[in-house]
Amino acid sequence: MATPGSLETHRLRLSGGELTYLLRRSARSRALRVTIDPRRGVIVTVPLASRRGWAHPEREVERFLVAREPWLRRHLAKFEGQRSVIEARGGIVDGGTFRYLGELHRLRFLPAAAGVRRSTVARLGADDGDEIHLSLIQRDLGAAIEREVPAAVLKAWLRARAAVAIDRAVATHAPALGVKPGRITLRDTRSRWGSASRKGSISLSWRLILAPPEALETVVIHELAHLREFGHGPRFWALVASRRPDHQAWRRWLRAHSMELHAALDPPAARDSLLPDDGIDVE
Ligand SMILES: [Zn+2]
Repeated sequence: MATPGSLETHRLRLSGGELTYLLRRSARSRALRVTIDPRRGVIVTVPLASRRGWAHPEREVERFLVAREPWLRRHLAKFEGQRSVIEARGGIVDGGTFRYLGELHRLRFLPAAAGVRRSTVARLGADDGDEIHLSLIQRDLGAAIEREVPAAVLKAWLRARAAVAIDRAVATHAPALGVKPGRITLRDTRSRWGSASRKGSISLSWRLILAPPEALETVVIHELAHLREFGHGPRFWALVASRRPDHQAWRRWLRAHSMELHAALDPPAARDSLLPDDGIDVE
């Protein structure tokens, strides 16, 4: 029996073959809930065993999973496909492939010029495709084997590029929407690309810089529009569409690439150890 917070592995025979899922007991849970986590697969959350009727949820869980097997298989296959695409790119290594501004770039690790004190990053157009050059000082180049240092150098550069791109998008769209945002914070949230507070501040994921510029703009416009319309009613969507009529396409792009963008800087081993917090829900 799973205790609160723990994850128990279960296996179930379904018509499409065996399905493995993780059973989680949650004190906050009131009903059965199924989530697909991009990394960990199917997670079934149920109330604590002490809650009336939930001591033995196995039959209930089975009924639920059997009824939704096609949906589950479809999403599991999609995540599996994304995972193998990311693996094939090689990670943050010399020669690896990396998505930036929506386009794939070749990563190049180069020794920094003598006397340079900090590693730097630059984007270059090359004949056979765009490249991102990491000019690494001796110490960082030595650490490149562990991949963490180049990833940190790259991440700092990406955050700075994200800040510039977001400021530019705000400067373009805020006056047109008649809003003046307060604080703009860069975050690394997993469940949302951006959020707006009633006090007028906005927070956005720096990972939007990995996506096409139109996708970043769509999220910025979305949050700016919230400074005028808090909910997601027709007036809100009309405001968003007034600035980007194609906003839905970019929201779809972000949904389809969510896993890729969130795993972009992870070392391969870490990709399986992250806690689930950005799955897809089905009730
Ligand atoms: Zn919203």
